[in-house]
Amino acid sequence: MEKTLAQWRAEGPVFGDLMDLRETVWLNPGLVPAAAGLDGADVTAADVAGAAARLERFAPYIARVFPETAAAGGLIESPLAEIPVMQRALGDFPGRLLLKQDSHLPISGSIKARGGIYEVLHLAEEIAIREGVLSLEDNYEKLAEPDCRAIFGRYAVAVGSTGNLGLSIGIMSAALGFRVTVHMSADARQWKKDMLRSKGVTVVEYAGDYSKAVAEGRRQAAADPFCHFVDDENSKTLFLGYAVAAERLKKQLEERHIPVDGEHPLFVYLPCGVGGGPGGVAFGLKLIYGDNVHCFFAEPTHAPCMTLGLATGLHDGISVEDFGIDGKTAADGLAVGRASSFVGRTMAPLLSGCYTVEDDRLYRLLRQMADTEHIRLEPSALAGVPGMGLVCAGAGSAYARERGLKLENAVHIAWATGGSMVPPEIWQEYYSFS
Ligand SMILES: *Cc1c(COP(=O)(O)O)cnc(C)c1O
Repeated sequence: MEKTLAQWRAEGPVFGDLMDLRETVWLNPGLVPAAAGLDGADVTAADVAGAAARLERFAPYIARVFPETAAAGGLIESPLAEIPVMQRALGDFPGRLLLKQDSHLPISGSIKARGGIYEVLHLAEEIAIREGVLSLEDNYEKLAEPDCRAIFGRYAVAVGSTGNLGLSIGIMSAALGFRVTVHMSADARQWKKDMLRSKGVTVVEYAGDYSKAVAEGRRQAAADPFCHFVDDENSKTLFLGYAVAAERLKKQLEERHIPVDGEHPLFVYLPCGVGGGPGGVAFGLKLIYGDNVHCFFAEPTHAPCMTLGLATGLHDGISVEDFGIDGKTAADGLAVGRASSFVGRTMAPLLSGCYTVEDDRLYRLLRQMADTEHIRLEPSALAGVPGMGLVCAGAGSAYARERGLKLENAVHIAWATGGSMVPPEIWQEYYSFS
């Protein structure tokens, strides 16, 4: 870092807000017309369409192995819910608030059921084709047969994760028959370790922090030519799995006759950790809706790595620790100190902005969401909920004003990223905390 903290503080109010752990809104001065922003990206519309087609090919297999997806034809998708009571409780804002319930995605109960599962399926398809047991035209249900499982058993998958990514990679890999190892820090939640072990996943714990677990997982995987390491910070495959969410959302909006166009803006608020999940979803949405969709990332005040990387322009060249921020937050899905450089650079011209939220607010919103709508979320998943108020009336209101956006016609989507797999007694602790 070339500048001192005092120099950063003088660059603009957002830097002092971040250092002092104050909630803040950062509107992206680097936002350009979507066509220009998409043009320079490393991933394309064809890549996203390829990922969607791959998930379609796997749908018969998924429907067979995870019967809870059968009604949706083997597609792993979540409801888009009206939350009128919660919307009223949040304030009297124009427009309409919807909740995208990735918290209730089948198989692993978080947004990681998009990217994480997609990356494992991508690997399985590649291996099965190479081994001569699968062609693209086959019914993929055959991958559940013993001969295919025996082939996958010769291969391994590894990931470093304290939470939801580990669950989704672990569950999907074990179901296919891969040998799978999740590297975790010892302070990771006991229920997650127990659940993974119950599904046949090897959990390795490390005394140091989470980055130690990732580094060790990466090192061990590199030593094994039959082992695939899922790289949360750099994986384009993960990113593409997340991006498919956009066309699924488009269908859900159409079913509800909700238009998105120059007269009807769409705002989307996405909780952000390392960036792959929210980045992939937002990228997919920009491909479909261009300048009519406005995407914001939401982070905890104690772990604002993406806001910091984008606002400084340093991406993964700066960490929250460099700003004297401790990274400690109840929003464990977002407790990341350094953002993905791939995601930061890809989204820098496309993202409308970022904002930060205090843990206390997340807990209050968690309680409010349960009381008003009977929806149980984990703390991370609430970070998108304050977005509507910030854009309509709060520190983000200049964004819509400067662009002349018609807020009375707007739809706002808070992306609820996880919660349904949290055991009831742990969730009750969250609820009691506010
Ligand atoms: C992982 C996760 C996120 C953020 O995804 P990133 O890819 O890390 O940015 C948000 N919410 C929950 C619940 C998560 O598990």
